[in-house]
Amino acid sequence: MRILRLARRLWAGSHDIYAGFCDRHGGIFNRHGGDFDTRRARRFLWLSLFAVSLAACSQQPEGASDDAGSGQEADQQQSEETNAQKIDETISPGDDFYARVNGYWLENTEIPAEFSVISNFTLAQARADGIIAEILDRAHTAPTSETEKQIGQFYASLLALPEDNMAGLSPVQEDLERINAIASIDDAVRFFSDPAQLTAMPIAMRIAPHPDAPEQYSVLLSQSGLGLFDRRNYLEAARAETLIAYQKYIGDMLTLAAMPEPDAAALQIVDFESRLAARHWSDMRRRERALVLTQTDTEALSAAAGPFPWSALLEVRAIPAQTPLIARELEAITGIAKYIQSTELETLKRYLSFHLIHRAAPYLSQEIAQRRARFEANVLFAAPQPADPTARARALTTDALAPTLSDIFVGGQCTQEHRRAVYQLVEEIRQAAIGRITNAQSLSETARVTAREKLSAIDVKICGPAEPAAAGLGFRTEDMTAYKNAKSVTAHKWQAALSRLGTQPAPDDWHAPSYRVNAYYDPLRNRIVLPAAILGAPFFDPARSDAENYGALGAIIGHEMSHAIDDQGRLVDAAQSFRDWWTDEDARMQGILLEKIADAMPLRHNTHDDPAQHQPAPETLREAFADIRGLTLAHDAFIATHAAEDTADNATFFNAYARLWRRKSRPGTLSDPVHLPADLRVNLTVRHISAWYDTFDVTPAHDLYITPEYRTVPW
Ligand SMILES: [Zn+2]
Repeated sequence: MRILRLARRLWAGSHDIYAGFCDRHGGIFNRHGGDFDTRRARRFLWLSLFAVSLAACSQQPEGASDDAGSGQEADQQQSEETNAQKIDETISPGDDFYARVNGYWLENTEIPAEFSVISNFTLAQARADGIIAEILDRAHTAPTSETEKQIGQFYASLLALPEDNMAGLSPVQEDLERINAIASIDDAVRFFSDPAQLTAMPIAMRIAPHPDAPEQYSVLLSQSGLGLFDRRNYLEAARAETLIAYQKYIGDMLTLAAMPEPDAAALQIVDFESRLAARHWSDMRRRERALVLTQTDTEALSAAAGPFPWSALLEVRAIPAQTPLIARELEAITGIAKYIQSTELETLKRYLSFHLIHRAAPYLSQEIAQRRARFEANVLFAAPQPADPTARARALTTDALAPTLSDIFVGGQCTQEHRRAVYQLVEEIRQAAIGRITNAQSLSETARVTAREKLSAIDVKICGPAEPAAAGLGFRTEDMTAYKNAKSVTAHKWQAALSRLGTQPAPDDWHAPSYRVNAYYDPLRNRIVLPAAILGAPFFDPARSDAENYGALGAIIGHEMSHAIDDQGRLVDAAQSFRDWWTDEDARMQGILLEKIADAMPLRHNTHDDPAQHQPAPETLREAFADIRGLTLAHDAFIATHAAEDTADNATFFNAYARLWRRKSRPGTLSDPVHLPADLRVNLTVRHISAWYDTFDVTPAHDLYITPEYRTVPW
């Protein structure tokens, strides 16, 4: 029983190096992603990122000669590089290391109009998106294969959206009429569960590895259905303007679609979603893993939620009736089911109609697509400008055809030499971790044995899957409208997911497209994934100094590796069996180390939902600890392989780390609820590391100084 509970705790998620989209748009990213809201949120992230790469391309005026253009560009590039590298010598490293390294950059960097955030992650993503843009342009104009031809057709259907709204809306009329004909809750559930529909699904369903048998895919239910993604947008008084803007947007969209009584409908829809939001779990609660997952079935759900038509939901999604269901937020899901039953059918129909138009908007007409893009950019992502239509078409195509585009992307990245260099860095950090564990005072002998075994067994995936995605595109787009193409892709994705039900995950099932900038540790498979897009500068560049590569990508690898053996990694052993391999004394000792991190964290870094609890959330402490361990391991590996007694080398190493996390965001951007803010990710990490004190002569006179007994040790 205990093991089962442990398994459930662990299943709730893996560890991203930064909270993906949280880094940019707040609280909406989940690595296992796949519920509809999340995919939509990602899609709109791509829009803003694509736009940046386009802006960079358009700096040179049309017709300007190469010489003139390259001269200006060279100057601009040089000044950008200077600001990017320039250290603010007026700030002592011991007082504010983050500001010393990043002050010039922060002062001289503008957030592009289509962005809410600029960071190394967004810049690297913009570069990856530029490469994807080239692939799409080729697929559109001169495809080199049948697959590329299909990609090009999908993309072309988006570029060719009609100007006229009524023409754009005609493909969607049939589905709007289906909503109009809904006569019962059963009908409504059947409509929103249909895998080919683009409307909102208040209870989302997807296929994911089973928590108690991770080698097998199963059905996962989760809370969903909010147009504003995050419950905080509905419930916090400070975000009231967001909700007002959303209501106005709903009214505008319903007007564009010539729906009756648009303003009254908008009010009803906002009220309905606010009540859904009140039933949703907060992000922090979702991450308290012990609460997160429950195996259930339709009988148990009916007992808790009354006569909600669960069987209709399964039937429409072609799930066999007896299949066990995993509820991610059980009380939220049953609460939503109860609430739906008590809702007026007319309200539900209006809600489904709006979400159909909202979600189909990028596939309908230029004006409707633009209205949605403006809302997303201005209200949700706090960016002054939305992406242009071409950028939008690229982003939508990339998102819709992700596995195939990921394969094409990785084919052009990561030479053998590059892979080898990254792999060597991983191995050196692995050896550093094993060395630390061998000498760890805070772990028992039995825990040290398992930790070493587990570190040795970590499976590292670099760049992208070796085998192309088996599912393929699975549809033909010739002579179809963008809307029909989108429905066809959505239905095909569900079919591909369904075919995995009850089977074992393939070794190359990475969950992350190679063109997405992120890194993660998968606790169920003891695996670190480093997609191609994170293997370029400023994370890793074979052409620059090793000190920089170890301080940047090295620290990321160390961070992920530490999750294998932290207070979550303790739940799975080296053979990937669920077995808690810590003793009570190990847990007590690790708790003391975490307390030291909490003690060295000023109150403003308290990320717990309840401000009355002046303690950082456990998840935040875990991530802060992973940062300290990651940087320590990277430094160990650097010293071991470079005999870097030289202070200048060490300074380069730590500066690269501080540069890694630089980040500038617009006011109003939702914060990452789990990781520390960028400045603290640097300042609160280095203050625990003795080598940093030695490198920069940090003394008790400096603000960041803490006495050695208050510094946590990595193990
Ligand atoms: Zn982490």
